[in-house]
Amino acid sequence: MKIFCIGRNYADHAKELNNAVPSQPLIFMKPPTALVRNGRDVYYPEFTKDMHYEAEIVLKVCRNGRHVEEKFAHKYFDAISIGIDFTARDVQSKCKAKGHPWEIAKAFDDSAPIGEFIELSEVNLEEINFHLTQNGVTVQKGNTKDLIFPFATLISYISKFFRLQKGDLIFTGTPAGVGPTKIGDKLEGFIEGKKLLQCNVK
Ligand code: ZN
Repeated sequence: MKIFCIGRNYADHAKELNNAVPSQPLIFMKPPTALVRNGRDVYYPEFTKDMHYEAEIVLKVCRNGRHVEEKFAHKYFDAISIGIDFTARDVQSKCKAKGHPWEIAKAFDDSAPIGEFIELSEVNLEEINFHLTQNGVTVQKGNTKDLIFPFATLISYISKFFRLQKGDLIFTGTPAGVGPTKIGDKLEGFIEGKKLLQCNVK
């Protein structure tokens, strides 16, 4: 099982971190050990002083495929949820400054909590509203109509390089509003107002 993540897929977020808007999807991966399911607690890692939340719509891949054409991409995922792409921002900034890979800032243990999955029939894929709260206060709000690269483009692009396999997950990028977490935080993720994710930071 692979976890794909997409960087800078909402223009307002790229801007807030002073990053250029990419001309092609920016892909990175997390290992299965990053995954946190069923509301299990997450422990604040000792190697960072600036762990950020990034709330993202997550797609669940439902069949194997390579070189998928955009027009058939909708057949390759059958459920969505909301997840958090936890990022050690201080570590990431150092990696970026040196031109090094990001893994230690992005792919560490428990860096990818995901919520309960819902079926595609419950949403309009082109216009999914989602939001994240931190201790009850809304900190991020997004809508998939603002994606730079829509789901079909992501699936097609990823599958040029990596064989898609049933059960793979795709974190589709975060909107503006990313920010620091601290021990004691309760993060909750919603799609169309329905709570699907809870994550306590211990
Ligand atoms: Zn992200």
